[in-house]
Amino acid sequence: MTDLIPTPAQARVPVRGGGTFPVRRIYCVGRNFADHAREMGAVAPASKAERGQPVFFLKPADAVVTGGADVPYPSGTQDLHHEVELVVALGKDAPAGVLAAEDADALIFAYGVGLDLTRRDLQGAAKAKGLPWDIGKGFDHSAPISELVPAGEVAALETRGLNLQVNGQTRQHGALADLIWDVPDILHELSKLFALKAGDLVFMGTPAGVGPMVAGDAFVATLEGVAELRGRIIAA
Ligand code: MN
Repeated sequence: MTDLIPTPAQARVPVRGGGTFPVRRIYCVGRNFADHAREMGAVAPASKAERGQPVFFLKPADAVVTGGADVPYPSGTQDLHHEVELVVALGKDAPAGVLAAEDADALIFAYGVGLDLTRRDLQGAAKAKGLPWDIGKGFDHSAPISELVPAGEVAALETRGLNLQVNGQTRQHGALADLIWDVPDILHELSKLFALKAGDLVFMGTPAGVGPMVAGDAFVATLEGVAELRGRIIAA
C-alpha cells in the first residue's frame, strides 16, 4: 500500500561514538524524588513500602530537541518550568508480560540527561480540575536531550548526580541514589502497563528546585561525569 500523505519525520537522538537512536515513545515519571514531590504539594512516601504506584505520563516522540538546538518558548503558557532528569534509552524489546526488575538492565542501550519542560500553569490548572496533564507536559520541543551515552560506558550510575544551571546559577541538584523508584523498578512498573520496545526513552523524574525559564535563558544540564546538555530558550 502507498502512503497517501508525506511520511512524518522519524525523531532521532545522536549517540556518543556515532550513529543515532530512533525514538519510538517517551515515557516520563512524576514525583520520583521526595524533595520535588513535597515542593509540588504532594505527600512524599516515608519508605519504599509506602510508595504506592509511580506517576506516569508521556510526551510525543517528536518533542525531542537535540544537538543543543534552541528551544522556542512554548505557546499557551506564562510559566515554562525546567525539570532536569536522567533519561534511559531502551535498545531491546521487553519480553511479553511483566518485566522482572532483575531483567531490566539487559534492555538498556544508553543514558542521557534531558529536560522535562513543563507549562506549569497549564499543568496546575489541569491538576486542580482532575484533568489530564497532556497540554502541560506533551507539547512541541518539550524534551531537550543530550547525546546518548552507551550503557557500557556508564559506571556506577546510582552514585551520580543531576545538575541544572540557568544563566550560570545552580537551580537543581539531586543524587540518583535518592530516586524513590530506581531504573529497574520503573521499567518493571511500566511493563505492567505498556509493551516496552527498542526506541523508548524514559525520563526518570526531577529533584527539587524546579522553576521558570524565559526567552534568553541559557541552560546547562548535567548527568555528572556522563553527559551534558547545553541550550537556550528563545522567543517563539
Ligand atoms: Mn518531570
